[in-house]
This record gives sequence, C-alpha cells and structure tokens, in this order.
Amino acid sequence: MQADYIIAGGGGAGLSLLHHLLFSPLQHKRILVLDRESKETNDRTWCYWSAQRPRYQSAVHHTWDTMAFHTHTFSHTAKISPYTYYHIRSADFYQEVRELAASFSNVDIIQAEVYGSGETSDSVWVETSLGIIKASYLFTSVASLPSLPPHPHHTLLAQNFLGWRIKTAQLAFDPGVFTLMDFRAEDQTLPTFFYMLPYSESEALVEVTQFSPQFHSFEGFEEKLHRYITDQLGVTMYAIEEDEEGSIPMTSVQFPTQEGERIYRIGTVGGDTKPTTGYTFQNIQKHCKQIVAELQGKRITRRMGSRYRFLDRLLLHIMREEPEKVSYIMERLFGSTRWPTILRFLDEESHLLQELKMVVRLPWFPFLRALFSPKSQKPHVALETPVARERMANTE
Ligand SMILES: Cc1cc2nc3c(=O)[nH]c(=O)nc-3n(C[C@H](O)[C@H](O)[C@H](O)COP(=O)(O)OP(=O)(O)OC[C@H]3O[C@@H](n4cnc5c(N)ncnc54)[C@H](O)[C@@H]3O)c2cc1C
Repeated sequence: MQADYIIAGGGGAGLSLLHHLLFSPLQHKRILVLDRESKETNDRTWCYWSAQRPRYQSAVHHTWDTMAFHTHTFSHTAKISPYTYYHIRSADFYQEVRELAASFSNVDIIQAEVYGSGETSDSVWVETSLGIIKASYLFTSVASLPSLPPHPHHTLLAQNFLGWRIKTAQLAFDPGVFTLMDFRAEDQTLPTFFYMLPYSESEALVEVTQFSPQFHSFEGFEEKLHRYITDQLGVTMYAIEEDEEGSIPMTSVQFPTQEGERIYRIGTVGGDTKPTTGYTFQNIQKHCKQIVAELQGKRITRRMGSRYRFLDRLLLHIMREEPEKVSYIMERLFGSTRWPTILRFLDEESHLLQELKMVVRLPWFPFLRALFSPKSQKPHVALETPVARERMANTE
C-alpha cells in the first residue's frame, strides 16, 4: 500500500487536516487516514468561539451569543459579539468529514493500529497492523507527547474534567446563555470551576473542571457536580443522559511540530492546545491551514506568540503554587475587560496595547511572585504525561 499523504489518527486533528486538504488544490493526492477506532460514536464534544462562519456546518449542534461568569463575589452576563460560541458533537464532525471523503476515490479511511514511523530522504514509512505503508509525508496525532527533560521555567498541569448531560422536568436553564466559568465551588485547594451549556430550558451539559498536578484524577467530582446542580442551579431531580470525562495536558513547554522534514505532528501532540485553557479545536484549524499552505510551497508565518507563552507560564505557575488566587485573578480579568477582548486575547490574536490595558488591571503580586519565585527556577517539568505513557505503551 502506498500514498502521498498518511494521516495517522482520524480524530479532531486528523480529520480536520483531511477536510482542509480536500478543500485545497491538493485534493487529488492519494490520502490514507489510519485510526484504531471506527470513530462512529460521540466520544467528545468540542466548543470554541469564532467570529467566522463555522467550517463544519452540519456538525454544529448548538450556538450561544451570551456568556455568564460567576464567583462568590461577582456575577455577570454579557453578549460576546462579534463572537459566537459553537458546540460540535464529535460524532457529527466525524460523519461530516467521512461523507466528504467518500466523494473522493483517492481517499481511504482505514481502521488500523499505528505502531511506529520513520523517514528516509524522500519518503516516510508507517508500521501498522496492516503492514508497512509508505508515503511522501506523514501527519500524526498518535505520536507520544514529547518526553522532555525537566525544564526550569515550565509547569505541567492536567485539566481534569467530568461532564454530565442532564435532563430535568423543571424549566431550569436559559438556553441563550452559557456559563464559561463558575468558581462557586467551596474548595479551591485546586483551581476548580463549573461550566454549563444549556441546550434547552430542561437540558444542559454541566461540567466540573479542576487544574491538578495529577492526570486522570477525578476524586470527588461526582459529588461536586451533583451539589452544583442542586444547590447553585436549583435542579432537584434530573437524569444523566450522557457523561464525558477528560484530562488535557496544560503546559507552556512548546512541543515540536515536526519530526524531521516529512513527519508533522498535529493536534494535542503537535502543540495545538492553549496552555492555560485547554482549548485546542480552533488552534488545530489554524495549524491545518498552515500545513496545507506549506505543502503548496507557500509560507504562512504562524504567530509564535512568545508574549502569550510568557503569560501562560506565569499563570500556570500561579495555578500550581497559589491555586486559591486563581478565582480572584479571573474575577479581576472578567470584571475589568470587555469579554470579546478577553476571547481575542485567549485566541492569541490581540494587540499589544489591548493586552497591556488588560494586564495592568490584574492583581500584580501573584504574577510578580511567579516571575521571581525561586521555585520557578527549579526544574519541575518532566514532560511525560500518562497520555504519553499510554500512547507509548500502545506502540510497544
Ligand atoms: C473529552 C474532551 C473534550 C474536549 N473538549 C474540547 C473543547 O470543547 N474545545 C477544545 O478546543 N478542545 C477540547 N478538547 C481538547 C482537544 O480539542 C481534543 O482532545 C481533540 O480531540 C484533540 O485532537 P487530536 O486529534 O489531537 O486527538 P484525538 O481527537 O484524540 O485523535 C487522536 C486519534 O488517534 C487515534 N489513535 C491513538 N493512538 C493510535 C494508534 N496507536 N494507532 C491508531 N490510531 C490511534 C485515536 O483513536 C484518535 O481517534 C477536549 C478533549 C477531551 C478529551
């Protein structure tokens, strides 16, 4: 078997790249997508904000134009125009891309395990459960996270979350308003907030999120979620229709985006996750756009965002060293700056002046402590997460 392009991993990044390729002059290339799973179930939901029309139109499940933010001492609801908050069910996304791919005879999506890969001067090879497959380029989201030596200035945290899609007989929710963060959790020993996407007056996805040094640590999450639903949302009787949990790596360490000349890393393992929020989906789209341009010999300079990485690094340090301060910092941020400006900043598309205006309104001391803390000089990141270990184990 031979191809021009192999896409290893047909999840969020792999199928996004396929979509970008099929809408480009490279659509005639022989493309092979390999995934160990059939990707027919709804294994996650993706949300993102954007001021543009959605790329995956039939996968959009719900949209909101009004956002809420809460702490114990501050509550605010506001429109986020020009942005819209989009919610995509992964099963619909996989189906939309598969249907598009089905109209191209030069594209195959195959269920197979990927064990390893390498490159020569003019080709790549991928070892799979179907044998060795060769191609000109490989785009992989199944590689392990890079295992880097401890780094003196970086933190690695896990964003652990548990979500329930609940249904109730009560008219409990305002379907026009989603909650980005609600810090009214009693215990902030680790930064903890709730997130809510109401689909109707009686149905919503409610999640609890915690930033933790431990990956896949969900102890007490069910209890927190239940208490939030009953005490804060006032929903006394509800049924859990679906649940979702995840553990997203958050680090300011920049992952390599390429292994050699012909192997590109994409998705989470390609560094597409925003270090302090865990949002990845939109960065994947930007990364795919850049790769497709590069394959055509065009060079789009991807914004390196060094000042964003600097702020990410400080904030991650505060999250680890002064977790109880996080809700106050967020309150100051969301209480003093227009929300579209914050969203633009989180997208790393803001201007320096906007950022300066925003940063001077934040409490300075935690940031100064993070900057000068002796702890930040000590190595504390050995970037080998359980995700990496699991992936490496799977390739053995
Ligand atoms: C539950 C959950 C919810 C999330 N929600 C959001 C959100 O709302 N917004 C946002 O921006 N980000 C979100 N993220 C983060 C990020 O967008 C997702 O993790 C996204 O799926 C990353 O895309 P990916 O292609 O890197 O990984 P994946 O989508 O996980 O794709 C990797 C693919 O590789 C396959 N694979 C792995 N190993 C092998 C192997 N050895 N051989 C063959 N196939 C293999 C897997 O089956 C999988 O299909 C979420 C993450 C999780 C876990």
